[in-house]
Amino acid sequence: ILKLRAVGKSYGENRVLKGIDLDVMRGEIVTLIGPSGSGKTTALRCMNFLEAYDEGEIWIKGQLLGYSTGEQGRRTRDSEAAIAEVRRPVAMVFQQFNLWPHMSVLANVAAPLILARRMAKDEARRKALAALERVGMAHKAEAYPARLSGGQQQRVGIARALAVEPELMLLDEPTSALDPELVEEVQGVIRSLAQDGMTMVMVTHEMGFAAKISNRVVFMEGGLVVESGPPGELFGHSRTPRLQQFLKPWL
Ligand code: ATP
Repeated sequence: ILKLRAVGKSYGENRVLKGIDLDVMRGEIVTLIGPSGSGKTTALRCMNFLEAYDEGEIWIKGQLLGYSTGEQGRRTRDSEAAIAEVRRPVAMVFQQFNLWPHMSVLANVAAPLILARRMAKDEARRKALAALERVGMAHKAEAYPARLSGGQQQRVGIARALAVEPELMLLDEPTSALDPELVEEVQGVIRSLAQDGMTMVMVTHEMGFAAKISNRVVFMEGGLVVESGPPGELFGHSRTPRLQQFLKPWL
């Protein structure tokens, strides 16, 4: 469903991604781990063109994301409409929830359906309510985000992503802004999505969670994939000294 080939990205002189390859199959759960600044979040944001990558290729369901290749292999950047079409199957969950404070929970979840998907308001509200039910938040549909705990806000963030019926969800450190006692409820929701077969790519600093939920773990450092494999292999028998050192505090 998702394919990255030699993906590179620079911020000015700072080459943050130095050629990332990744394949994600339907139904897979892939987690990105690695030290701070290794490029995990940037890689994730490139996967739905929230950040424009500047080298390599990203394919979503067989369509090249963000660019078209013209004569002599020169590529041009696509229009926003064309980009939106290619990334349509993808939804994102943010570390800081990114809910609109002046809108009710229900309106937050319905907004992408009305604005981006041009759905009629009634239908959007129906779908939004179903998504809220899925994460156990339907009873707070009329509440405002500020009245909710962090864990509840993130469950609303997940509902907003689910409402567009994505085929691939990208989760950027979904529990790292939460107080420790609220982490479990959000991880529970993510686990239940996994059990339902949702395809996910997740950046996380929670190694225990990564080990439990992933089909595959990808260890990044310095803008490169250093090692990747099933969690048992990576956590049990890491091949590189870098990964061994990174995992030390968790073992
Ligand atoms: P963390 O675990 O701390 O979130 P990360 O592995 O997700 O780290 P990124 O957030 O992808 O790493 O950042 C990689 C590098 O890119 C860092 O050096 C960061 O300072 C830089 N960077 C990220 N976003 C921007 C930006 N918008 N403008 C300039 N530099 C950026």
